[in-house]
Parts: sequence; C-alpha cells; structure tokens
Amino acid sequence: MTLRFGREFLSIPGPSVMPDRVLRAMHRPAPNIYEGDLIDMTHSILADLKRVGRTKGEPIIYIANGHGAWEGAIANTFSRGDKALVLGSGRFAIGWGEMAEAMGVSVELLDAGDRAPVDPNRVEERLRADTAHEIRAVLVVQVDTASSVWNDVAAIRQAIDAAGHPALFMVDCIACLGSVPYEMDEWGVDVTVSGSQKGLMTPPGVSFNHVGEKAWEWHAKANLRSSYWDWERRAKPEVFYQRFAGTSPTHHLFALREALTMLLEEETLEGAWARHRVLADAVRAAVAEWAKGNEIEFNIPDPAHRSDVVTTVLTNGIDADRLRRISDGSLGVVLGVGLGDFNGRAFRIGHMGWVNPPMIYAALGAVETALAAMKAPYHSGVEAATKVIARAA
Ligand SMILES: *Cc1c(COP(=O)(O)O)cnc(C)c1O
Repeated sequence: MTLRFGREFLSIPGPSVMPDRVLRAMHRPAPNIYEGDLIDMTHSILADLKRVGRTKGEPIIYIANGHGAWEGAIANTFSRGDKALVLGSGRFAIGWGEMAEAMGVSVELLDAGDRAPVDPNRVEERLRADTAHEIRAVLVVQVDTASSVWNDVAAIRQAIDAAGHPALFMVDCIACLGSVPYEMDEWGVDVTVSGSQKGLMTPPGVSFNHVGEKAWEWHAKANLRSSYWDWERRAKPEVFYQRFAGTSPTHHLFALREALTMLLEEETLEGAWARHRVLADAVRAAVAEWAKGNEIEFNIPDPAHRSDVVTTVLTNGIDADRLRRISDGSLGVVLGVGLGDFNGRAFRIGHMGWVNPPMIYAALGAVETALAAMKAPYHSGVEAATKVIARAA
C-alpha cells in the first residue's frame, strides 16, 4: 500500500530541495526591469557570486540550465578546430566534451572510468607530451553527479603547472558550488561553470560562468563566440538588459538573492561546507553497514574521493529500480536514479544544498524499509548514521 501522504522528501542530486523562503521570495508581481531595485539587487548577486566562487573573476549569469553554461564556457574560449583535453570521471565531463565536439572543438578524452577520480599524474604526463601546446584547454568536473566521485581540483592545477603547460583550466562545479570547499583564484582555475539548482538552492534555470583574467585573453582570440553567449556585453553592459542579452530572469534573481543571503550571511560558506561533511559522513556510515553484505557497495572504492554532495550506491543483484519505486511510491522518499551505465544497478542519494539530519534519516530509513519490503538481506546502517550526527550535534 502507499503510505506517502505526508511531505514528500526529495533526495535526488539536483534539483535539490528549495527552502520555503526561496519559494516565497519569488511570489511577487513582475518588477520594473529598466530601473530601480532589480538592478541594485542584481549587482549584489554578482558580488555574492564572486564570494561563493572565491574569486575576483567576473560572474556571467545565463538564463539556462547547466548545459547552457557549458556551452557559454566553450563558445567564449575556443576557435573551431582547437583541441580540448577532457578529463572523464563518470558522465558529466564526457557530456561537456561531446558538446564541445558538436561545436567544432577537437576533443581528446583522458578517462578514469566510472569508479575513480582523475589521476593528476596522468594529466601531467599527457600535457608534457604535448610539446607543441596543441591542447588549448583542460576540462574537468569537481564532483561527477553520476559516479559521485570528488576530483582534487588543486592537484590537477598543480599537474598542469608541473608540465609547464599554458592550457586554460575550466572546472564544472554545477553539482557542488556552495556545498564543498572551492577556491577558484587560489587554485588557479580560469573558468568555473556552475548552476542554480544544486548547492545554490534556487530553481533550475540560471547558470554561471566565473571568468578569470587569463580566460579573457583566450576570449579575445576565440572564434566560436556568438552574440547571445558572448561574455563581453554581459560583463560590460552599456544598458542593463545587455547583462542578460534580453529580459532578466526576474524571479530567479529574487530566489537567488534569498538563497545567497541564507548561505553567505546566515549559515556562512564554511558552515555549509562543514554541514555537508557531517551529513555525507552520516550517509557513508550507513552505506558502509549496508556494504557488509554481498549486495551493496560504494561506487567509489577510494574513501578520499567520495563526494560530500551525492553518494552513488551499487546494488549488485538487488533491483535498484524496484527499490526506488517502493521508496517513492510507498514511502514518499524520492531517491536518485542510476545514470547511464548505472541504470537499474545503482541508486543515488543526493545530500546537497538545503538538507539537514531528519532529511538524511528519511533517505536512509526509506532505503532500509524498501530493502526490508523486498526481503533483500541488509545490515541496518541508520544507527551508524545517528552516531556520526550525534558527535557533531
Ligand atoms: C547537474 C549537472 C550538470 C547539468 O546541469 P543541467 O542543469 O542539468 O544542465 C552538469 N554537470 C554536473 C557536474 C552536474 O551535476
């Protein structure tokens, strides 16, 4: 029977749960888009986006999902036929590379597979071999939302430097900006790509490019630039509408303003990083118990590279789709589907953005309840999770 008639818990890795305050911030009439509060508010959002990215780099706001910000980053930095080195570690960097290829970029994939992080040594080796400096940019994700791997962005930067290679360094932080430590300037990232609907607690529909100084030099030479995606007008508008190449995303901006206030002024960025660490540790403590049987397994074997925003759980021999259907249909907890090759043999728990311990307990409890309903063998992990949270509380 279904018992789900109460609040639904969304535990997918994006879009994440929207705070009620963010929803309420959008509930207002359309504003004047030519002058007044909206313009001031947009400037405060741009300043706060720099704080979230830890950069002086200019933020560009696209009215688009993450894929749009991917396209923006490519269009502003490449010329047709230029080469990109894509560092695969799951699905998302590969998808970004496929988009670049469709736009006329020549893409080389250095793939770590579905269960491991990017190896900085392999990056250094590949770049050292590129003595003619044909590789124009290196593309990577900080957290891959399909595999749940967490790449070491600073170490990849060091690998590029160790090779003495001038390539532009572009990082997709769509899954995790605002939720895990990220230091665009300190780590030497040239372009950061992110979006509203995961760590930033805002509906899908706006996404960002943070543009560093060196990226502006690449931009000057790029011939894939097009009117709508071009950074130039958006960063240096003569009139306000040029910042968005048209009407501004008014209600997304109201929502984002509220979310940034919650994140930066109330919790603080460091507080949010610490909360995500505790909650992720709690999820991992539970999965480690489940994994004492033969069926359940972490997708990422190396504990140092399991992300603090999403956990991909392999369910060898247990039907992951049936588990999700019971969790969702009967219990009211929506778990993440296994993406791509993971389909049917994994589920994902999203723990990014506006999440607290009871929401984590809901996800873990629902997984265990579904396993019990399926008569699948499992070791309970909820108690292990409570101990992690109790230590921090
Ligand atoms: C969600 C996500 C994307 C895609 O974002 P969309 O808004 O769905 O286009 C890209 N990269 C990563 C790492 C993501 O988590």
